[in-house]
Amino acid sequence: MLKVENVSKYYGTLKAVDNLSFEVKDGEIFGLLGLNGAGKTTTFRMIMCLIDDYTGKITLDGKKIDYTMTDKIGFLTEERSLLTKMTVLDQVKFYGVLKGMNEEEIENKLDYWLDKFSISEYKNKKIKELSKGNQQKIQFICAIIHEPKLLILDEPFSGLDPINVELFKNIILEFKEKGTSIIFSSHRMEHVEMFCEKLVVLVSGKSVLSGYLKDIKDEYKKKNVIVCGDIDKKKVNNLDGVIKVEKEANEYIIKIKDSSYVSKIFKEISKFDNITKFVVEDASLNEIFIEKVGEAYEK
Ligand code: ATP
Repeated sequence: MLKVENVSKYYGTLKAVDNLSFEVKDGEIFGLLGLNGAGKTTTFRMIMCLIDDYTGKITLDGKKIDYTMTDKIGFLTEERSLLTKMTVLDQVKFYGVLKGMNEEEIENKLDYWLDKFSISEYKNKKIKELSKGNQQKIQFICAIIHEPKLLILDEPFSGLDPINVELFKNIILEFKEKGTSIIFSSHRMEHVEMFCEKLVVLVSGKSVLSGYLKDIKDEYKKKNVIVCGDIDKKKVNNLDGVIKVEKEANEYIIKIKDSSYVSKIFKEISKFDNITKFVVEDASLNEIFIEKVGEAYEK
């Protein structure tokens, strides 16, 4: 289990991370979210021991993380960190050896992963000859080749097509099943929602929202009613409990204060013609994120 306790980090006078605490249990996928400059990379770098002049405590399975433990951690960085003139095999060997593996073990594992990603033919090709998506696969393999206890994934789906997003997702879930603690960061809320059970949202290094996604959604009372049909937008806007009505493609999205208004709204909507859909949904993580981050900036 990863435990981050009351961690703060200054760059000169700038407090980049402000008294941050969270834990990621074995087999848990945790989302670390925030706008640009919120302090995510700084937090990753402290966990990885690339920054050590911070206050507070970061432990993995009860032991303070220091440079001797980095072979227990895998880090997929947002920016490309591959040496493009190297071959795939040499690049992965380079990372594997750094993580304490021997060359034979690295090559066996690499063969397994290249096959899994259907890119075995690139083993002896130079990184620069690979497409962006395939480079992302190699970067991912470098992060997992040593089967880390803690896996940090910063924008892992960047540059991937939907089929490969699904493939990555399944592999990440396999690691979760094996008990790996996973920290996931992305600006794409639908990806976070897809598999993070717990999260923290940072604004200027400070947590403004944290906990289990399910609890966050339960506490956030606002709902969306999705309607298809010929409604009078103005009339619906004036109904009790309605916050606003938006049109998206052939649907109306009616944002309401909470579920207690649903039955009255349903009665009113059914008076309009051609109603073919009336569905009540939880607010998306994206909506919650935008509201909470916005509120934090207004304070
Ligand atoms: P992004 O989503 O854009 O990658 P982030 O959440 O990862 O952003 P950080 O890179 O951790 O944010 O930056 C947090 C704050 O610390 C920002 O204000 C940034 O300008 C500042 N910062 C980051 N690295 C340094 C550094 N080496 N020296 C000085 N300030 C820094």
